[in-house]
Amino acid sequence: MLRALDVLAACTSLASHVIHAGSIDSRDDAAPIPLVFCIDVEPDARLIREPVEWLGFDATRGFLEEQRLPIEQATGSPARFCWFLRLDPQITGCYGSATWVFERYAAVIDNLQRNGDHFGIHPHAYRWLEDRQIWLHDFANQAWMEHCVASSLEAFEQGLGTACRSMRFGDRWLSTETVNCSERLGIRYDLTVEPGSPRRETPMRGEPATGFLPDYYRVPRMPYVPDQRDFRRSSAGPRGVRLIPLTSSALAGIPLRRRISRLLRNGVRNRRQATPLAFWSDWSPPNAFTQLLDRALAAQVNPYLVFAIRSSIGARADRRRAVENNLRDLLAHSQAGRFFFCSPGELLDMWDANRQR
Ligand SMILES: [Zn+2]
Repeated sequence: MLRALDVLAACTSLASHVIHAGSIDSRDDAAPIPLVFCIDVEPDARLIREPVEWLGFDATRGFLEEQRLPIEQATGSPARFCWFLRLDPQITGCYGSATWVFERYAAVIDNLQRNGDHFGIHPHAYRWLEDRQIWLHDFANQAWMEHCVASSLEAFEQGLGTACRSMRFGDRWLSTETVNCSERLGIRYDLTVEPGSPRRETPMRGEPATGFLPDYYRVPRMPYVPDQRDFRRSSAGPRGVRLIPLTSSALAGIPLRRRISRLLRNGVRNRRQATPLAFWSDWSPPNAFTQLLDRALAAQVNPYLVFAIRSSIGARADRRRAVENNLRDLLAHSQAGRFFFCSPGELLDMWDANRQR
């Protein structure tokens, strides 16, 4: 069995090299590469019990504002970010209002809007258990999950005066019922799916949960219309909502057994996009950010990029340094002139147009 797997791994490695060698150069290099840069705007700590300030958001926002000019210089197009706001029951429970972020950061949000940035919701599933005095991720409670989405959408509309179209669910949790429900409630773009991520019993050790986080091994690696019966599969549609998976890549230099297990989990088709390209992580050769980005672009026939960070990274020196380094490498990339920092809707327009070329 192992010998057969060795042969399989060797063949896919060779195939990967052949494809990699010709992919980027043989494509139409004039086509723009849409890029959505998401920031989950939320408290720095997770299990909050009192209304603490969002210092990470202050720092992250300040840093990204400073990056607008370098981004515009590197890409030749405006730098637009996508901010996904926490407006869920945990925020209501701690801050007394789901719309706290709009009140506390009114001037900031106004300024971001003036820069052409995009906004969406980032609901987490926390439910406060009064008797146990703890927060519970109540994933298995569909009525609660729908309440988290519906109340966040309501707060969004109250705060910005416009209907919300974009969602990134907290802790990359998602379910078919929730996708179907959020579509009914008006969500058009969902950027929750992180290809290559494993199933987990809880998002964080020590945080109780009902249900589980689904694995995203076999999900499509391109924007897709989700199937009504399984959101992790694509369907012909048409539907109001599309899922836009985050960018994933392939690790080099990992032991053969690990490579094989990744291959078996993700499937041959997804072998070159089996690892989430986390923007807040430190990467080093043979998996430096630039190398992973090269592989992520080469693996796609019609390339697009989606990255996401939590606002709390601004309060952590190590995470912030990693984001700064990865952004520097992103802007120094040989294809940076093709990157177009945009909203999810613009990404789909551009991606669809590129497909027609
Ligand atoms: Zn979050």
